[in-house]
Formats: sequence, structure tokens, C-alpha cells
Amino acid sequence: MKTDIDRKLRDFVGAKTAKTFSDVLGIETVGELLRHYPRRYLKKGELTPFDELEVGDQATVSGRVKKVTVRSLDSKQEIRPDEVNKYRRHKTITKVVVTDGRNDLELAFFNQPWLANKLTAGTAALFWGEVTMFRDIMQLKGPGTEILDEEDLSEEEIERRAKPFRPLYPASAKLPTATIERSIKIVLDNLGELDDPIPELILRREKLIGLREALQKVHLPETEKDWEVAQKRFRFEEALVMQTILAQRRAVTDALKAVPRVRSEGGLLDDFDARLPFKLTEGQAEVGEEIFADLARPHPMHRLLQGEVGSGKTVVALRAMLSVVDAGGQAVLLAPTEVLATQHHKTLTKMLGELAEQGMLGGAERATRVGLLTGSLNAASRRTAMLDAASGSAGIVVGTHALLEDKVQFADLGLVVVDEQHRFGVEQRAALSQKSGDATPHVLVMTATPIPRTVAMTVFGDLAVSTLTELPAGRSPIKSSVVPAKEKPAWLARAWERVHEEVEKGHQAYVVCPRIGDDVKNAADEEGEFAAGSEDEAESKGKPRPAISVLQVAEILDGILGDLRVEILHGRLPADEKDSVMTRFAAGEIDVLIATTVIEVGVDVPNASTMVVMDADRFGISQLHQLRGRVGRGKVPGLCLLVTHGWAGSKSYARLEAVAATTDGFELSRIDLETRREGDVLGVAQSGRRTSLKLLSVLRDEEIILTARHVANSIISVDAELAEYPVLRSFVRSALESEATDYLEKT
Ligand code: ADP
Ligand code: MG
Repeated sequence: MKTDIDRKLRDFVGAKTAKTFSDVLGIETVGELLRHYPRRYLKKGELTPFDELEVGDQATVSGRVKKVTVRSLDSKQEIRPDEVNKYRRHKTITKVVVTDGRNDLELAFFNQPWLANKLTAGTAALFWGEVTMFRDIMQLKGPGTEILDEEDLSEEEIERRAKPFRPLYPASAKLPTATIERSIKIVLDNLGELDDPIPELILRREKLIGLREALQKVHLPETEKDWEVAQKRFRFEEALVMQTILAQRRAVTDALKAVPRVRSEGGLLDDFDARLPFKLTEGQAEVGEEIFADLARPHPMHRLLQGEVGSGKTVVALRAMLSVVDAGGQAVLLAPTEVLATQHHKTLTKMLGELAEQGMLGGAERATRVGLLTGSLNAASRRTAMLDAASGSAGIVVGTHALLEDKVQFADLGLVVVDEQHRFGVEQRAALSQKSGDATPHVLVMTATPIPRTVAMTVFGDLAVSTLTELPAGRSPIKSSVVPAKEKPAWLARAWERVHEEVEKGHQAYVVCPRIGDDVKNAADEEGEFAAGSEDEAESKGKPRPAISVLQVAEILDGILGDLRVEILHGRLPADEKDSVMTRFAAGEIDVLIATTVIEVGVDVPNASTMVVMDADRFGISQLHQLRGRVGRGKVPGLCLLVTHGWAGSKSYARLEAVAATTDGFELSRIDLETRREGDVLGVAQSGRRTSLKLLSVLRDEEIILTARHVANSIISVDAELAEYPVLRSFVRSALESEATDYLEKT
């Protein structure tokens, strides 16, 4: 399909301007130019002849400068035009007398002495502001100005420029907003019919304006309402294109085959439920049923389970795995790190007890085995684990993601559970299919980082979402405070005292650092997300201070907590050492653990009561929340101290205060997302490149996204190839070709 929209810009605006557009904005076609929307609109008053001005009006006038004077407000002295630059930082008043040839009008500008050199006598310009009267002289208050070139002085051009709403475009010195505006006007005036990607029927039903009208109103609005309805239409268009892509993708997933794993009575799952030392929360039971229903379908489940740290996702996952084992299949649990995989293996084995001791003395009559497959296993254990997976004698296999790339084969893989990761890509799912013959295994992804509904619908469009909202009863609350180490060093000293007191009470503590510190120079710790300096520090000193490291803190605490059993843990320790440290910490043989974010997920030591996060501003909001979830896991109330070198009142300090103020993960996730740019929310590196989401906000435009999703579903359900919707199809195709849909590929 080829329409006017695809025509080259140079056919309209000439080769030179077209080249500038191409160089500066990467814009080649008419369609691309028209989608370069105004950043905002300049508000002016109505163009009014001088003799019709009334006090109180918001007005725009066109006139010539008659006289300019600049005065210092301190010395009351007049400042000569060639001296004004010296008074940039002084209090000044610049008075400009403007005339329309008959009447005069006075304008006063405060602290902008340089205007004297711009608004020189004879300059033609537009001025706008509120009309006031001062000592019998008509004035414009808080005036805006736009200087007019001599060739702009036609009546028509002045009228156009004086419009109440003037678009301001993302622009640069090489390509100013006025040039963009002029080019867009030329294009709009000369363009023929335009095909609308939104079907006629939908436009009518959703009360949206058509493409042609919307372009006119977004670029050359007459009223505020104009650009509002135009933007609404374009937001819907963006949402529709995106949701159509997702609906098509869902159709493909729905066509995949999976072995139904129907829950059976009297199996391992029932035995396990009977053994559970606690009652499932309502949420756990409900989500369990949702999952069992999914597993019983002949198409692969693809479900996201989100829930606060400590909300009991592991039990839910284990019950799902057991029901698959009961149905004759196998399940794997993938963890992001070896430490965590090892820990999951232990937890599952312990929870299952004799149910995991198949073929062993003391094993239950009905039992299975839980295998562990990590990179650091020795050759013999590895061989056994692989054999158990391949023969099917291990009903459950726990491992890191490396498991997927490995030669590991399964007898009958039915379910994959992915812990603490919400991105589980197309490639990974493809890798899975290869491990289970023709059928695709069911997938359950778990995360403690809550994702707002609209983001889930956008980014994870083909994912069903379950949420655990309540914490199991008996969990202790966590108290958090910010410790400004630089402004109040005594507070930091007090923090270490608190750690000491907690240990005296028989509890344990974590000290978390952004870096390991065993590196030579500046090699950011791959475990710390934010190893670079915080914005505030970068602003104030130019060069950010390197974040404090595990090794540095170990040295400092050697002096302060020397009488306690302090050890370190980070990703670059040998595996057996990591293991030993974790085991001894869990057994209460270590009082204080200085660690990187390796402990971020899954580590479960109920006796740990206190966490001190060093250089807390180097971590993201959600990450801090996640980290903090490591304490207060038992009956002991948790305490989390967020240490920062930032100053109170800075942006990063405010982020820490937000974390300290609430333990609601959804709230924090929202704050986190709102402080990022939209592209980052979607996981797109935007680097100024073109994107198909320009006006739509996945955070704010929930209603639009919902409607668009509905519309897209109904279109795709009857016409998956979009044969009847050629314009929409071509929009979908170009969105898929653009950078911005990368994020869709990754999910
Ligand atoms: P998550 O993985 O969601 O952070 P876990 O599954 O590790 O949480 O559960 C946290 C702790 O709560 C574990 O010690 C678990 O045994 C316990 N737990 C889970 N469900 C319940 C429940 N319904 N009642 C009491 N304790 C529970
Ligand atoms: Mg967990």
C-alpha cells in the first residue's frame, strides 16, 4: 500500500530543508513529519489593535519598538545597551515602548536586560500578555515576545503567528520550531486524501476524529479543545497498533499445543497439602486454582505470578509443580543465581520432606525427587542430576537459567517456573519447546516487583497475571529510616550500635553494598545495578564518588563490630565458599553478613532482623524494597536503615524517603516507574530514536489501552491477517520495523 503519507518530504519543502530534516530528526517522509507532534503549545491572546485594548484582556499585539531603556533597580541608574551584559545578575527593569504608528503601549520586563539588544528601535514583533494600566499608561504584563522578520510582515503571516495556540516542536538550532511549523503547514496544505488506520466504525463508536482532521488540529489548533481531541485520537491509534500486534501474538500462542496436566486426587499434591504446617492464604489457594485450570488446557499456560516479597509464592509454585508430577510430567524451577537455586533446592526438599525421598529408606510411598543442576556441581553429581532429569526419576529439577542452554534433557517436561524474573523471552520459550518434543511446556513466571496493570498489558500482552495481595499472617512489620551519613555522621555511628544491639538480642544483620571492591579500577560490580554515581553527586561535584564496596565496609566494621562474627558474601567468591557462608548464616553461626545484592532475592533467614544498605541511593526503588524484604521474615520485627551521602532535599534523598515511608510494593513500583521516562518503563533504550509510542503513556492512559485492546481482539478474532484492514496492517508492519517494539520481542 502506498499513499501520500509515504511520499518524500523533499517533494514538498525543497531539497535543502528536506536534508536538514533528515540530518537532524531522521525524518524522510511526509508521514514521519506529520507524526512529529508539538511538544507543547504557546498560549497567546487574541490579536488586537492597540486602540481596542481593554484592561484585563489577555491580548496579542503587533507593533514596532519605539524606544528601550534599561534601569538598575538598585542604583536607579540607566544602563547603556552596550553595558547590559554586565547586569545579567542584577535586578533590572527593561521598559520597551511599542507603537502601531498611532498609539503607544509600554512593556516592562524584569531582570532581562539583554532584551535591550534584541528589541532595538524599529524591530517588528508580536507581544502578548495581560493588559494593565500603570500611572495612566497602558501596559502589557508578563509579556511574551516573538520578533518578526521583515518578510513575515504580511497580514496573513501575522495572523497565523498570532494564533492563540502556536505549536512548539522538539527542535534545535539547526532546525528551529518555526521551520518545522512552516514545513508542516506546507505539507498539510498540499496533501491529498489520507487513509486512516482506525476503522471508520471504531472512530464513530469511540467518538474519535479522523486522521486528516486530527493532523490539522494537533499541528494548527484554534482552541485548546482542538489539540485535546487530536491527541486523544493519536493516543488511541498508538494503543490500537500496539494491541493489534499483541493480539496477533496471542493468537499464535493460543495455537501452540501443550500436554494438558489435569489435577488428580490422592496424589503428591494432596499429601503435601496435608503436611503443610500452615494454612494457605486465600490468595494462595485462589491462584492455585487459576493455575490448575490453565494447566489442564491443551495450550501452554503463560502466567505471571506477582506478589510482595514474603507473600508465599514458593508454596504456590511448588503446588503447581506437584500437580504436574501427579499428572506424570516433570517441572523445573529456574532461579537467577546459583546461590538462590541452591537455596530453593533446600527449601523445596525441606518442605516436601519424605515426599522428596523417592526410592530412599524412609521415603513416602508416593514420592518424587528434587534434582539440583547448577554450573558449579562436580562432574559426578552433575551426571546423576542429568540422568535423573532424563529418566524422569526427578519430578522436579531446580537450576539456574543456564539449564536451558545446556544439553539437559527431560523425560517429559510439563512446567517451567521462573523465579524472580518477569522477562522471559521468546528465545527462552523456544529453547524450552526443544526440550519437550512437539508440545510446549506450561510457564509460570514469578516476580516480587509489581507491575502496574497497564504496563503488564502493554509489555506482557500475552501474559495472564495473578497477584498475591496479602502477606501470610504472623509476618512482622519492617521499619525503615534514611541515614544521612554526611550531614549527620552520628546517625551512622548509631546505626552500627543498633546492629550491635540486635546481635546481642540474638538476631542477625545484613549490610548491603553496591560494589564488591576487589576490582582494580572502576570495574562496576555486575551485581549492583547502579554502580555509577547518583545524579545529585554528579551534579554537585562533577565526578561521582565511587560507591562504597563490600571490602571497604568489611575493613571499617572490623574496627566497629570487631567482637561480632562478621563475614562477606558476593558473586565472585568461589561457589563452595558462597555456599558455606550462606549455610552458616542460615544456621546462626554468622552475626553480620556484608554482601552485595546477591542476597536480593529469595534468601530466607527468619532470624535476620536488621539491614543496613550502604549508599542506598545507588539502588533503584524497587530493588531497595526487594532487598528490605530479607528482614522481618520471622517473628522478629525488621529494621532497614538506608544510608546515603546525598543531601536532604535532593531527588535521590526523596526517593529513599519514599521507600522508608511505605512498604506497599505497588505504590513503590508506581513511584519508581513515574520517575523514569516512558521508554525506560517499557525497557526500550530510546536514545532519541523514532518510536511508535509518542503520545501514549502506558502509566496514565489505562482506559485508552483497555479499549484499544478490546477493539484489537475483536478485529484479530475474525481477521487475524488484517486482510480487511490494509491501513492498520501497514501501520502494524512499520511499528514492528521500528526500534520501539523491541520490548515486545523480549517478552
Ligand atoms: P516469596 O517467595 O513470595 O517472597 P516465600 O514463598 O519465600 O515468599 O514465603 C515466605 C515465607 O512465608 C516462607 O518461610 C514460607 O514458608 C512462609 N509462608 C508461605 N505461605 C504461608 C502461609 N500461608 N502461612 C504462613 N507462612 C507462610
Ligand atoms: Mg521467593
